[in-house]
Amino acid sequence: ISKIAVLTSGGDAPGMNPCIRAVVRTGIYHNLQVVGIRQGYQGLIDNNMYDMTTRSVSNILNLGGTILKTARCIPFKSDEGMEIAYKHLKEHGIDGLVVIGGDGTFTGALRFSRKFPDISVIGVPGTIDNDLYGSTYTLGFDTATNTVIEAIDKIRDTADAHDRLFFIEVMGRDSGAIALRAGISCGAEAILLPERATAIDNLIENLKAGQFNKKSSSIVIVAEGDKTGGAYELAEAVRNEIKFYDVKVTILGHLQRGGSPSAFDRILGSRLGYAAVNALIKGETQKMVGLEANHIKLTGLEEALNQHQFKLEEDLMEMSEILSI
Ligand code: ADP
Repeated sequence: ISKIAVLTSGGDAPGMNPCIRAVVRTGIYHNLQVVGIRQGYQGLIDNNMYDMTTRSVSNILNLGGTILKTARCIPFKSDEGMEIAYKHLKEHGIDGLVVIGGDGTFTGALRFSRKFPDISVIGVPGTIDNDLYGSTYTLGFDTATNTVIEAIDKIRDTADAHDRLFFIEVMGRDSGAIALRAGISCGAEAILLPERATAIDNLIENLKAGQFNKKSSSIVIVAEGDKTGGAYELAEAVRNEIKFYDVKVTILGHLQRGGSPSAFDRILGSRLGYAAVNALIKGETQKMVGLEANHIKLTGLEEALNQHQFKLEEDLMEMSEILSI
């Protein structure tokens, strides 16, 4: 390996910048040339890349988003698109690639490196959804959860002042990871997760019990992937049954993706970026770097994609119901 490139792809996540910084500086420390590719796979196809120096990544640890930009790139899904990307990488003499993104990004990376095995590829799990196999935590999940908690604490203040019931919808795609942790952290009265079914009748019973126990407000967190219904539908479904609360809905939306990365995500990003370059130097390819039991672990991209499902911790699910009585 003599020249590596780094890109961020798919959904952005806080922590991507600390990771880019670690890739660039670890590479340069080991006398590799490092190239930054803009806008994910689109930058490979458009030949939109630049040489990076230690100074290209100064003062970015605290920045949300990604200085390399990210994109969803349809042309990369075709053989022609991949061939153009390969041609550009070869023209620049790049023989190693670090891709930071989610499962879509890894699917593209695996296909690409099977087609062109002379380019080594290492993936870094970057998604707020925390839904990748092979890493207990993904980049951005901790920051997003903290952002959600901050927002819900504020909503709790106004809910309490007015005896309100809030349905708050949070991100996570098919994963309830953010919803579960935010729910425990904010003492939500109910947490609706894609990982467990909740009957509307039970939800109504819970809320009535809360009122009976003299709760002055109620917060129901709804994961966006929950199948019971979105926050608005749920609010409509309970409105007539729950007369004692004024029912409101808040969809937190894209604010959950932004913000300065937490200490945890800065360290995770640095650690995974460092590990990704070391893996390339050791001759690894088609692997993902992750963190398991606080140790760096390499998982085959194929295995990471096949296992996909990330299970929520049973004890957290049980506890969340007990602690909110
Ligand atoms: P994420 O990486 O966050 O899951 P996406 O699912 O949007 O985000 O994937 C990011 C990009 O990865 C896509 O825009 C596309 O360029 C590439 N990609 C996804 N699936 C494939 C595939 N089957 N083949 C090639 N590239 C893919």
